[in-house]
Amino acid sequence: MLTKRYLFIFLGLLLLVGLAACDDEMNENLAYDDECLNDPDCDLVYEDDFCDEYDEDCEEAGFWDDTYYETAEDCYEDEVYDPVDQLCYVEWEDEEDCPDDECGEVWGVLGDLLGSSFADADFDEFGENAIITYDVRNNELTNPQLGEVTADLESFQADEAKHREIWARFTQLIPAAQRAQIVQFSIFTDGPEEVMAAVNPVAEGDLSRWALAVDIQDAADDKELTYSLIHEFAHVLTLNNRQVDTAVSPSACTDYFPGEGCALSTSYIDAFHDRFWVQVFDEMGVNDETELDESDMEDFYYDHEDWFVTDYAATNPGEDIAESFTAFILQPKPTEDTLAAEKILFFYDYPELVALRKDLASRAYSRLRRN
Ligand SMILES: [Zn+2]
Repeated sequence: MLTKRYLFIFLGLLLLVGLAACDDEMNENLAYDDECLNDPDCDLVYEDDFCDEYDEDCEEAGFWDDTYYETAEDCYEDEVYDPVDQLCYVEWEDEEDCPDDECGEVWGVLGDLLGSSFADADFDEFGENAIITYDVRNNELTNPQLGEVTADLESFQADEAKHREIWARFTQLIPAAQRAQIVQFSIFTDGPEEVMAAVNPVAEGDLSRWALAVDIQDAADDKELTYSLIHEFAHVLTLNNRQVDTAVSPSACTDYFPGEGCALSTSYIDAFHDRFWVQVFDEMGVNDETELDESDMEDFYYDHEDWFVTDYAATNPGEDIAESFTAFILQPKPTEDTLAAEKILFFYDYPELVALRKDLASRAYSRLRRN
């Protein structure tokens, strides 16, 4: 009797140790170089078995699928090959070396993405209604978790190839070092149009790990998908744990409080808020803590159209910085004398974002010109 009990305790302990080891391994795999996440040259710290060479396991995992990924042989003459994200892209010189007439084609293709109406939403609404959710591990979609769906959505749920294709779009657009914090990927739908995509922290209070969700019914439009993925990435870029501190309560926060936590005084969103939104709130006779009313903001936008890059940007500071960042990626450096242009020029003050812009613009252009 006693021996049996000890055996169970022993097995129980063994299981616990095993689980803890798995957990550790998981965390290691998700590790990134904290120092330089915003440096596009920064390599991710992968613990093991990262698919940097073609191998059977990777193929089995669906990571190396010719349909979505390229080999070096696929590259055009003016392109270089990124073996991590497996894509060919135009290596862009500094913008000064690429005046508008030479870069006309690039800006033509990218400019096509501007002007369509975009809307995202709080991921919470979709997290629970996700058709399918994957963990992202070493760049692969793993561990599919099926949501409960009605019969009309079953075909969307089963379309794994489409899920991987959308994810591939994201990885080909956003360099690996920049998307290390996106550790979950969900597919949802609210029907065609409406909400296109969303991001949300995986766990409340932890802004180091994020989930990306995309509406499978809206993803067929390549331009809109590209626009949305840049916009969603901008939220993670401006609200992650190196930008916003969840440990500081609204009342203790002396800087801008975007909802997720207290913006660090060094953060992009705090600088953006101080420079552009204090006057919005002043003009509206409200303050940071006021819950902004959607129709009030719409009215405000139509009274101040040249303050914002899009109507959606007038929603709140978080959407404004995401929309302005997307405009920063997709168009030449503005020369107009408007607040909207100033919001785009804001990002040029950060060398790491200027470097990132070069990457994102050339990757987006290279994908879109193939279609
Ligand atoms: Zn947004």
